[in-house]
Amino acid sequence: MKIYINGKFFEKAQARVSVFDHGLLYGDGVFEGIRSYKRRVFKLKEHIDRLFESAQSIMLKIPLTKEQMIKAVVQTIKVNKLDDAYIRLVVTRGEGDLGLDPRKCYAGATIIIIADKIALYPEKLYREGLTIVTVPTVRNLPEALNPQIKSLNYLNNILAKIEAANSGCDEAIMLDSLGYVAECTGDNIFVVKNGHLYTPPQCMGTLRGITRDAILELARKNKIPAHEHVITRHEVYISDECFLTGTAAEVIPVVKVDGRTIGQGKPGKLTLSLMKKFKILTAQNGVKY
Ligand SMILES: *Cc1c(COP(=O)(O)O)cnc(C)c1O
Repeated sequence: MKIYINGKFFEKAQARVSVFDHGLLYGDGVFEGIRSYKRRVFKLKEHIDRLFESAQSIMLKIPLTKEQMIKAVVQTIKVNKLDDAYIRLVVTRGEGDLGLDPRKCYAGATIIIIADKIALYPEKLYREGLTIVTVPTVRNLPEALNPQIKSLNYLNNILAKIEAANSGCDEAIMLDSLGYVAECTGDNIFVVKNGHLYTPPQCMGTLRGITRDAILELARKNKIPAHEHVITRHEVYISDECFLTGTAAEVIPVVKVDGRTIGQGKPGKLTLSLMKKFKILTAQNGVKY
């Protein structure tokens, strides 16, 4: 495996960053998870745009243009000879001193690109569906650390993941500070009720996922009424179907939430149909390499 760090490729064992990197010391940085399917990078422009927006928001200067970043991502996949890949693109504040002042990170940002494979959940769960639980840790407040920033500061989500695991579940529903359903630890959430699709709006604790947007786009194209609307736990419990979306997880059904069986207790019809449509979309779109 060859890993890109600041324009050079390193073998995995040699791919190292400084212990003074503020990405490590403070989670000071931003990232993207990207997938390629059949030698096409899915929604690459959207991922690069969001990376630069995250960086802009935290005043992190990325020393590449968007075009150069796109080239670096594609080059990393090609060097690793992967037809299907999961790409982790990380930009940290770079090496500084032990204080948190980012102005002292004189060397500038560290850019890391890893192209590998990932299977977030076993195949069985895509067929049978996830059991998930609402956890006590609420999603970051937008006025504190806005969830739209895909930052390396992921403890909020990790705490929720720990709480889900403590309850014997695979995933966690995180609420926003008002008590509405926000999202899961690294995935967006959808429910289906009477043929309508609902997902929380991006305003409070919900990251505007690129997979989420792709599902909304598929729904529109297929005349499935879709709404970005606040959702309570009650509305999840009484839904006909539930599923999660994210680049790593793709589209995965949920069959049980907080002990309540959702619908018939197996992946719903619309969920299965959207999973199929998403698979076709990923195979036919994206930047070729
Ligand atoms: C990345 C991420 C998602 C999913 O977004 P995609 O763009 O679909 O990969 C959802 N929630 C959180 C907290 C995330 O970090």
